[in-house]
Amino acid sequence: MRTVYLNGEYLPETEATVSIFDRGFLMADGVYEVTSVLDGKLIDFEGHIVRLARSLDELDMRNPISKEDLLEVHRELVRVNEIDEGLIYLQITRGSAGDRDFAFPDPETTAPTIVLFTQNKPGLADNPAAKKGAKIISIEDIRWGRRDIKTVQLLYPSMGKMMAKKAGCDDAWMVEDGFVTEGTSNNAYIVKGNKIITRQLSNDILHGITRVAVLRMAREAQMEVEERSFSIKEAQQADEAFTTSASAFVMPVVELDGVALGDGVPGKVALRLREIYIDEMRKAAV
Ligand code: PMP
Repeated sequence: MRTVYLNGEYLPETEATVSIFDRGFLMADGVYEVTSVLDGKLIDFEGHIVRLARSLDELDMRNPISKEDLLEVHRELVRVNEIDEGLIYLQITRGSAGDRDFAFPDPETTAPTIVLFTQNKPGLADNPAAKKGAKIISIEDIRWGRRDIKTVQLLYPSMGKMMAKKAGCDDAWMVEDGFVTEGTSNNAYIVKGNKIITRQLSNDILHGITRVAVLRMAREAQMEVEERSFSIKEAQQADEAFTTSASAFVMPVVELDGVALGDGVPGKVALRLREIYIDEMRKAAV
C-alpha cells in the first residue's frame, strides 16, 4: 500500500481522508503540480515549485509549506514508496471552513489542505508509446480563461481524453478561434524544416515546465523556435509534431484528425528532443 502525505503526516493511503466540505471537492478550489521521478530523483523540482507559488498567488491562496519542506516530503515519499521511475502529485486546496459558501474562508482560521501521493511508473523514460507516437483528434477548447493557473478543475481535459479514446486515438488538441491552444494535458508543437513552432505564452495555456526546458534545449541544438499560434490545417501539413509534459516528456504525434504527419511515424526532431531532454534532466535531477 502506498504511503501518502496529508497536512504534515505520512499515512497509508486508506487512512488519508479529507472533509466533505473541502473546497477542492466542492468547488475545484485547488491547484496541483506533477513532478516526475527518474533514477529515484526529482526532475525539474525547482520549476514546479516556482509555478506552484505562482498558481497559489494568482488565486490568493496561502502557501502552507516551504520549498525546503516540500523537497523533503517529495524525497521521503520517493524513498518510502521505493519509486525509481514515476510521478509525484501535489495538490493544495483552500481547505474546509466546515460548510459550503462561495466566499473564500478567512485564511487565518481555515488552513489549506495539502496532499502528495506517488505513482510508480516503471518504464516512464523507455515508454513504448513514444516509439509508436500519438494519434490526436482536435476538439473545441471550451475551458475557462485562466488556463495559466494549474487548477484541479480537470473535467474538460478528462472529457477530451474520453473523446479521443472513443475515436480510437490517444489524445486531443484543443482549438480556440481557429488556433490550437494546447493538448488536454500537454503543450503542442509542430516542426517545419529546422523550425519548431509552439503557441506563445498567455493566459490561454499552461506555462509548461517541460516546455521551458525543451525550447531551451532546441535552441542549444541550433533549431529555430517560433512562438506563435498555428491551426490544425497548418499542423497537418507540418513535417512532424509532438507534445511535452512532465509526465510524458516529449511525445511524438503521428496523426492529426486522421491525417498522417510526415511519414506517419515519430519524427526525428521529436525523438531527438526526447532523448536530449531525458538525458539532461536525469543529470540535473535532485
Ligand atoms: N498544458 C496542460 C493543459 C497540462 O495539463 C499540462 C501538464 N500538466 C501541460 C500543458 C504541460 O505542463 P508541464 O510540462 O509543466 O507538465
